[in-house]
Amino acid sequence: MSDCIFCMIANQEIPSKVVYEDDRILVFHDLEPQAPVHVLMIPKKHIASLDELTEEDAGLIGHLMLKVKEVASLLGLENGYRLVNNCGEDGMQTVKHLHFHLLGKRKMIWPPG
Ligand code: AMP
Ligand code: ZN
Repeated sequence: MSDCIFCMIANQEIPSKVVYEDDRILVFHDLEPQAPVHVLMIPKKHIASLDELTEEDAGLIGHLMLKVKEVASLLGLENGYRLVNNCGEDGMQTVKHLHFHLLGKRKMIWPPG
């Protein structure tokens, strides 16, 4: 989608600090980190939110989920981490391209705000 900021990042139209990339997904540092390590994991395909996922995306999302532990290891998160998805208005989703926040290197609190 041409007016989607994460599509632009995936297409290298705007810069990002890339941590991991393959043909289907991209992982890059969040612009406003909420933890010492805070990266965003996105499918390169534009999917607006978790709510928009279809069966056809099962392989893609499975691939992304299986990469979480690999990226966590790459970033030195052997003591644990948190994976967050904000969905829709009540979920406080601000960028309408599916993304998972991977946060680490500090003790998280529960419940999240
Ligand atoms: P959410 O509120 O779950 O939609 O998260 C959107 C996230 O995208 C926020 O944590 C922002 O800091 C982050 N963000 C927005 N624009 C950029 C950008 N150009 N590069 C990296 N992260 C961004
Ligand atoms: Zn997009």
